[in-house]
Amino acid sequence: MAWMCSGSTNSELVDNLQDAGIITSKWVISAMRRVDRAHFSRHNPYEDSPQSIGFGATISAPHMHGYALEHLQEYLQPGMSALDVGSGSGYLVACMAAMVGKNGHVVGIDHIPELVQNSQVALEQHYLDWVKSGRVKVVTGDGRKGYAADGPYDCIHVGAASPKTPVELIAQLKSPGRLFVPVGNVSQQVIVYDKDSKGDVTEKKVMGVIYVPLTDPEKQLY
Ligand code: SAH
Repeated sequence: MAWMCSGSTNSELVDNLQDAGIITSKWVISAMRRVDRAHFSRHNPYEDSPQSIGFGATISAPHMHGYALEHLQEYLQPGMSALDVGSGSGYLVACMAAMVGKNGHVVGIDHIPELVQNSQVALEQHYLDWVKSGRVKVVTGDGRKGYAADGPYDCIHVGAASPKTPVELIAQLKSPGRLFVPVGNVSQQVIVYDKDSKGDVTEKKVMGVIYVPLTDPEKQLY
């Protein structure tokens, strides 16, 4: 039913996600209003479905981005830091940057240099202040290893499926911190890993999904 959230403008799309109860937090709603999906998706930006962004990648459907931000919102409060693994279009890093505010920090990592370059251009074109101040940045690298240089993070989002428990990413969470990641091969579940203030980790399955896998560039491109 998620396709019913499609709209003809960004604000209509967000209204529909809100009416469907997918997004309820005022922080998430205002971030999704502030960041226009058309800045990151050339095709059908206000349709509630994934769209191709080239290089074997897609920008995820708006309802998935909405769910992810809702699950992470306690860890995207002003001043917090976040990592987006498989940042692709750059849409979600922009939403996260809107939420963490001027004292926050968001890093996106993707293994396809052209996608990183395209997302960098979109961010500079539409959110230049955030790029200049270092509130948001995108880097090229293997996201399965996270990005330890700027960690640990209050939260980590993974936009591609991990075949196994992503221990390296869990290690880059603060205590407390939260990881949102699809795990599995054919059948995948989004798992939310919570690290508590003592460093103990618990996990909760939140929904079944179908994502492209976290992989090697040559496997994705050919
Ligand atoms: N969340 C993004 C993209 C989702 S598609 C968006 O909505 O725009 C999944 C992304 O994961 C693709 O951009 C792909 O290039 C990236 N990816 C796959 N394996 C990766 C890896 N090992 N390291 C970093 N990024 C990876």
